[in-house]
Amino acid sequence: MRLFRGGRATRDAAALIFIGVSLFALCEWLNFYDHLKVFLEQYEFVQADELLVTLTIVGVLGFVFGYRRLRDLRAEVAHRMRAERDVSWIAAHDPLTRLPNRIGLKQQVERLREDGKAGKPHMAMVIDIQGFKSINDIYGNEIGDEILAVIADRLRDIFIGSYLFRLGGDQFYAAQENAVIRDWEKLARRAIKQVSEPIEINDRYYEVSAYIGMARYPDDAANIKYLLRCALSAVSAAKREQSGEPKWFDTAIDEATAKYAELDKQLRAALKSGEVRPYYQPMIDLTSGRIVGFEALARWRRPDGSFVSPGEFIPLAEETGLIGELSAILFDRACRDATKWPRGVRLSFNVSPAQFNDRNFGRKMLETLASTGLSPSQLEVEITESMFVKDVQLVAVLLDELREAGVHIAIDDFGTGYSSLSQLSRLRFDKLKIDRSFVSSFLDDARQAMIVRAMIGLGRGLGMKTIAEGIEESSQAETLQLLGCHQGQGFLFSRAVPAEQALELMQTTWPVRSADKTAIN
Ligand code: C2E
Ligand code: MG
Ligand code: MG
Repeated sequence: MRLFRGGRATRDAAALIFIGVSLFALCEWLNFYDHLKVFLEQYEFVQADELLVTLTIVGVLGFVFGYRRLRDLRAEVAHRMRAERDVSWIAAHDPLTRLPNRIGLKQQVERLREDGKAGKPHMAMVIDIQGFKSINDIYGNEIGDEILAVIADRLRDIFIGSYLFRLGGDQFYAAQENAVIRDWEKLARRAIKQVSEPIEINDRYYEVSAYIGMARYPDDAANIKYLLRCALSAVSAAKREQSGEPKWFDTAIDEATAKYAELDKQLRAALKSGEVRPYYQPMIDLTSGRIVGFEALARWRRPDGSFVSPGEFIPLAEETGLIGELSAILFDRACRDATKWPRGVRLSFNVSPAQFNDRNFGRKMLETLASTGLSPSQLEVEITESMFVKDVQLVAVLLDELREAGVHIAIDDFGTGYSSLSQLSRLRFDKLKIDRSFVSSFLDDARQAMIVRAMIGLGRGLGMKTIAEGIEESSQAETLQLLGCHQGQGFLFSRAVPAEQALELMQTTWPVRSADKTAIN
């Protein structure tokens, strides 16, 4: 709203001047002033002249009063307009990073439409920050907020000539008109690098990383509004593939995303109907040939009898946050099954890094142990090396809670991840699980054999039990035993089987080479 609309004010002023001049001319023509003089003299007894002067003074003061109120009104209106602007700024911006939010993005798209720029080629990317949620959960929102603000500043420095938005949570969106593919990719790589630089807050370093999905208009998206959806779809694919490189959208990705959403729906239903259950794969002592434990492996059996691979639904559950619920259901069931086993037979349970986002996860596990009656010393928790990309100190605190209760901790898929020796020495594990990729090739590959030997030596040196995963041939079991590996697991012994079959397996002793290195039978 404007107080003075140009046309109306001018018309008003012109009309008033016209009326004033006409009145003046009329007075002249009617000889009004002479009549007035006579009138004033005639009515001197009622002091008409003083009355006229008073009226004139009142008129002038009224004018001054009116002018001053008008000025106040203008100030008030200006103030309201500013407030309105502020409110719409707040609505369209994220207060923490001061970047435009989704509403700001919508407004930007509208502006581009109005300016006729929406038809120009555009490139966009979604930057998805990994590891932020857990920092937020564990260290609190204040630290989380500071981290987001730092990331926003870093991105601002990178996307100087582009539009940058915070989509909410831990996602940012950048877009640019007429960008060149190679430059856009370069910016994306820079963003990945910059985001993963350590962030220092109060003398403590925090690390997060980024996945990036990119899309182009008009190549990928039918219109500029759809560009965001394509970039989101691409970033989901980047996350699924754990791609450290920025990922471009393509139609196959879109189909994959739709399939993924469908699978997510089905998994939620499957959890409710009990289609997902733990199966058990035995872990064998390579010297005695006896079962020393079972690893619980999730199995999703559809009503038609077909199985969905955990390689498919576990990462999905991790991404959608369903892993906590999935794991709780499986763990409860596994504990109940394990109470039927001899006390010396351990239950080994896989914990995914995403579960460490829940500060109470250790406590919840201990509660389940208590409610099912399984002794903590009969439980082993398997964590993978990818846990190390998280805050090692924090992982140590969470694991210590379990360890103090008597739970054993195993490091799974050893040799495939990011572990460094210093982290290994800091994090005290009870067991080291040599990944099956080494086991499958070490007999034919001298270098792999050296590595396996070194891993067994390392495990033994650090006082851990070692177990080789994926043993399929007796020659592998034999050699591993000779190299000093304590335990083995693999199809040679048994695949993962349902609880009832696991109980039957308990009686089995597998033929293995004795410790005095006689031949395996
Ligand atoms: P993992 O923990 O390393 O489990 C071992 C995988 O190797 C299992 O695959 C098992 O079936 C397979 N395997 C065992 N012996 C052999 C062998 O001799 N040859 C070959 N080729 N494979 C063998 P699976 O069950 O498909 O599970 C894959 C991964 O999914 C697991 O790897 C684990 O990381 C994850 N996973 C499975 N169940 C759970 C669960 O309940 N919770 C969590 N967080 N992760 C799970
Ligand atoms: Mg495992
Ligand atoms: Mg493994």
